[in-house]
Amino acid sequence: MSLIYRDYDEFLSYIKNTGRTVLAVSSSMLPRLDGGRFLESLSGIADLTVFSDYDPNPDISSVDKGIEIASRIKPGLILAAGGGSAIDVAKAVRDRYEGECALAVIPTTAGSGSEATKIAVIYKDGVKLSLGSPRMEASAIMFDPKVLITLPSYQKRSTLSDSLCHAIESMWSLRANEQSIEYAYSALKGIFAYYKAYLAGDLEAAAKVQGASYDAGRAIDITMTTGGHAMAYKLTTMKGTAHGHACLLAVKQLWDYMDEMGTDLGQAQRYRKDFDEFYGYVDLKAPDITTEDIDILSMSVNKERLANNPLMLDTEELKLLYTRMAEEST
Ligand SMILES: [Zn+2]
Repeated sequence: MSLIYRDYDEFLSYIKNTGRTVLAVSSSMLPRLDGGRFLESLSGIADLTVFSDYDPNPDISSVDKGIEIASRIKPGLILAAGGGSAIDVAKAVRDRYEGECALAVIPTTAGSGSEATKIAVIYKDGVKLSLGSPRMEASAIMFDPKVLITLPSYQKRSTLSDSLCHAIESMWSLRANEQSIEYAYSALKGIFAYYKAYLAGDLEAAAKVQGASYDAGRAIDITMTTGGHAMAYKLTTMKGTAHGHACLLAVKQLWDYMDEMGTDLGQAQRYRKDFDEFYGYVDLKAPDITTEDIDILSMSVNKERLANNPLMLDTEELKLLYTRMAEEST
């Protein structure tokens, strides 16, 4: 279980009691937290090293660089402040670094749910690796909805789409259990009730979707993701479509197809209308996809993730789904 904080002062005293030497994994968010006060206070209580040399879809070489720094400074705490990439890099560094240290996380998007999972998505030469380990569990999480307010609209829409897909896919995953369904249900309730107000800049709604995104992360920590995520990864590395954006496009096609096939989607089916409304509202269009792209995409779908999907899909069916996605972009 992770300790949950919503107040910077309490979070800072946690840090103070945990480790004087802190390795922060963060690109640009750290100086902006709490109007700059967090970094100022943190620098006052800790010996701070900031590692920011990683990409949005982080490569394993970034993790190696992080481990190198950790081995040198021997942190008592690794602190991730950022979206899924920062958190995933921090998790992988903590897992592979030989020393013992705690892991604290400040998620700055409502999306990846990475603060809740023991999996890190890291790439090696453009190919996705899902690293998983109990050592990736966050020791502490600081939730600050204010960081969400200033996110650019596209980032808000794509990251929230990621959360939504986590909740939906978890709900229909073959690995779903009572606990995961409860988390997924709570996530869906929060997202559907508050996304419009969140996208309009409402702070209370931001706190709600932040919680929903965490719940969606807890749901996939149990069930893993399914066909939607499996179809989305190559779209991101190939076309640069943001992860959540790609997931939303994939889940839309997958859901339509599973409906046509009469697949039993359990509780997820109750949310079809809400999903369609969300899909129309966030207005995330498919990128240009050529016939050649479709061949590559349908061959690169991760079979392990597909195995959790309520309907098994072969390459021809995947081709059909990507073709339909391509048609939507024109
Ligand atoms: Zn995701």
